[in-house]
Amino acid sequence: MEIIKNFIKGEYVAPQSERYMDSFNPATGQVAVQIPDSQEVDVVMAVKAAKEAFPGWSQTSMWERAQILNRISDLLEKRAEEFAQIESEDVGKPLWLAREVDIPRTIANFRFFASKILTREERCSEMDQVAINYTLRQPVGVCGLIAPWNLPLYLMTWKLAPCLAMGNTAVCKPSELTSRSTALLGEVLNEAGLPPGVCNIVMGRGETAGAALVQHPSVPVISFTGGTQTGAHIQQMAAPFFKKVSLELGGKNANIVFKDADMEKALEGTLRAGFLNSGQICLCGSRLLVQQDIYEEFVGRLKERVQALKVGDPKEEDTFLGPVVSQEHQSKILSCIKKAQEDGGKVTVGGGKVQNLKEDLKGGYFVEPTVIEDLSFCSDIWQTEIFGPVITVAPFKYQKDAVKLANTSSYGLSASLWTKDIQRAHRVARELEAGTVWINTWMKRDLRVPFGGMKDSGVGREGGEYSLDIYSELKNVCVS
Ligand code: NDP
Repeated sequence: MEIIKNFIKGEYVAPQSERYMDSFNPATGQVAVQIPDSQEVDVVMAVKAAKEAFPGWSQTSMWERAQILNRISDLLEKRAEEFAQIESEDVGKPLWLAREVDIPRTIANFRFFASKILTREERCSEMDQVAINYTLRQPVGVCGLIAPWNLPLYLMTWKLAPCLAMGNTAVCKPSELTSRSTALLGEVLNEAGLPPGVCNIVMGRGETAGAALVQHPSVPVISFTGGTQTGAHIQQMAAPFFKKVSLELGGKNANIVFKDADMEKALEGTLRAGFLNSGQICLCGSRLLVQQDIYEEFVGRLKERVQALKVGDPKEEDTFLGPVVSQEHQSKILSCIKKAQEDGGKVTVGGGKVQNLKEDLKGGYFVEPTVIEDLSFCSDIWQTEIFGPVITVAPFKYQKDAVKLANTSSYGLSASLWTKDIQRAHRVARELEAGTVWINTWMKRDLRVPFGGMKDSGVGREGGEYSLDIYSELKNVCVS
């Protein structure tokens, strides 16, 4: 059995307690590897290493930092297939998806911030020949980076790349469900020449290792991506220390199809937005609102396509949905479907565990892609983030109804809308309460734009300059 270790000061080390926990392959339900069950003492060691490395790293030139980040990308490119296999096995996602999305985006994160750090400029403001102000952007110190399980390496490196580019050091805590790719990243960091201690990786449970990191007084920045409840708890834990906190949280995103939409494009987009990565993407369009005039045709055609999606072995090229990440998560998704039915919703596609699986996948955590219609808007299920391959669908009559329904959610992460009327598109985009609005597309990513949510979907923005804000201290200098 493979045993993963923590990565501290450039070396793989066992947790002090020598305690490990099982990490499962969601496609088979079998134990895949063991990961450290790290405790506070391990986090303290990692923070100490990061703190000691900070003075040296924060003094390196930006050219040197950019070169190292680019080398990390080069090495990841060389080992892309190995990382894709691990990501697919750990999360249960189709291998093609890890190859096409997770790993290329991970590589792009380092390349982008290597370039960003070299090309950034700060503004000066002159005060009528009295004084001139300029802004200094300086690294903050040790940053605690906590990532979820759905896109493990891609989301962790979305934090790590700007953090290191700005001259900070880091302690990373990946999800206990999917630690392997982040652990392996340690090898790449060493080979790329990142000095020991600049990036440390501690595996373990959120309530122990994660909480110890958030509450460590020598960690002034916490960047967290995960569930809304956990985010609220983290904000509370960090508040007495006045830490800089970035929270990228859950979503229950509206996908709005107007009657003048390009139907083929909207169908394809809706299918991907609903079911990619088994619906386990914070940006998934899990609330589908379709204009009444085309409801029957659009939803009818959508259901045929959902029924035809192949669920099964993540290694097979034509698999669209693998399993969901864990048995516990499978049960949560199934109980949400049951609750929707109790509230009067009709399951018109899927709704249960997948039957007829290959022998070796019988213990896996598979859920059928599911469509729920006729659900009353009073049901909690319109509000709860299911985070699985489940969409709820409803008709709307007028544009204002669509906006109102979309905005009833306590979340505000993203929304998509499909229409050929460009004026309508811009108007609705402005009215929707969401951090990102896609028009006639879904999940297109530009690393320069602000990314993050409104309302219960989080605070702070990452991406381009916005990431640099979190990972730097801004200082105004006024010269008279
Ligand atoms: P969780 O909130 O359960 O966990 C996220 C991370 O926080 C994990 O590493 C977890 O560790 C850790 N953690 C848990 N409890 C604590 C704690 N008390 N102190 C410190 N760290 C803690 O989320 P999931 O991993 O289940 O991820 C799914 C959620 O993430 C969904 O809600 C999804 O919408 C959201 N998400 C948001 C994104 C965004 O950009 N807005 C992007 C992707 C996902 P452990 O796993 O060991 O418990």
